[in-house]
Amino acid sequence: MSTNRTFTMIKPDGVANGHIGAIINDITAAGFKIIALKYTKLTSEKAGEFYAVHSARPFYNDLVSFMSSGPIVAAILEKDNAIEDFRTLIGATNPAEAAKGTIRQKYAKSIDANAVHGSDSDENAQIEGDFFFTADERF
Ligand code: UDP
Ligand code: MG
Repeated sequence: MSTNRTFTMIKPDGVANGHIGAIINDITAAGFKIIALKYTKLTSEKAGEFYAVHSARPFYNDLVSFMSSGPIVAAILEKDNAIEDFRTLIGATNPAEAAKGTIRQKYAKSIDANAVHGSDSDENAQIEGDFFFTADERF
């Protein structure tokens, strides 16, 4: 298991609001290398599977329908201390509480439509990357 990789998605709101380029620019400017990248769309079944860990939470059904409502960008990123540094780069889950200059503060409008996903552990980064990418899609 690698300790220097994380997984991200630009969520449907980030794509629909025209922020793909700006968000990827912020990510690479912060020193992350792109290992894998894909423009795709989740079915509600796949979104439900991705967020299965949250299935008992009250926002789960809305989250699944939001995450399958439009295209997303999925990526595997590499950097020393990737998990923690990427969580710092994106900011708090609620963009109203996200630090100035973070991706969520700049590009997100609400706690549910919060522009980007970032893995919370090395283990989940591995699982989430494997959810979207085969071995021969990583460079
Ligand atoms: N979410 C939501 N309402 C909440 C908390 C979370 O809609 O009260 C959504 C939001 O899109 C968030 C995702 O569920 O990014 C996963 O929640 P988590 O607590 O893991 O936040 P994250 O790790 O994305 O900051
Ligand atoms: Mg999370």
